[in-house]
Amino acid sequence: MLPPSATEVLLCTGNPGKVAELRALLPPGLVVRGLTELGLPLDLPENGTTLEANALEKARFGHRHSGLPAIADDTGLEVAALGGAPGVYSARYAGEARDAAANIAKLLHALQGVADRAARFRTVIAWVDDAGERTFEGIVEGVITEAPHGTGGFGYDPVFRPLFADLTFAQMDARLKNAVSHRAQALWKLARSLAERDRP
Ligand code: IMP
Repeated sequence: MLPPSATEVLLCTGNPGKVAELRALLPPGLVVRGLTELGLPLDLPENGTTLEANALEKARFGHRHSGLPAIADDTGLEVAALGGAPGVYSARYAGEARDAAANIAKLLHALQGVADRAARFRTVIAWVDDAGERTFEGIVEGVITEAPHGTGGFGYDPVFRPLFADLTFAQMDARLKNAVSHRAQALWKLARSLAERDRP
């Protein structure tokens, strides 16, 4: 599944922050290539209706067009009282403009007067190579606050308070958030899988 000969991997994201995050967590010796380095478009197809499908679609595209093992991720905010919405549609919840403030306003409106504020961030990372496909999941459980708090982070961070903290993600030190995040947890699982692969 994860070939020992693979020293180069393609990270299928247009977000430079994600490239840096991944480089920091993956085993040394693994060379992480970006889409632009290989002449691929930054906006990869995302036509799935689940996080798994989208992550796999992007990783398959990257692998097919580069020949390298490819990694892609997809993240959503899943709100229990909304049946898991916005989920895979989190970026565009309030429209194609992908406006974080508008997304938050729509979410708070949808939860007005709702007592059950349970929500979770879920990330799926897909790995696709010649031998097959694997996915790795990371989850942070939390609640949606009544109003936005904090200025850090991005997306829904001002209204998401993880269960383990008294602060929203946007009020938290970025290093703390990034160390415990849904993305970090999925990345650790991928990194562990690669490390096991390379163990003699
Ligand atoms: P992506 O799959 O990483 O592009 O994430 C999709 C959407 O989910 C983003 O546009 C954000 O709205 C939201 N999102 C993803 N990760 C986070 C996070 O760590 N904090 C807040 N919002 C996030």
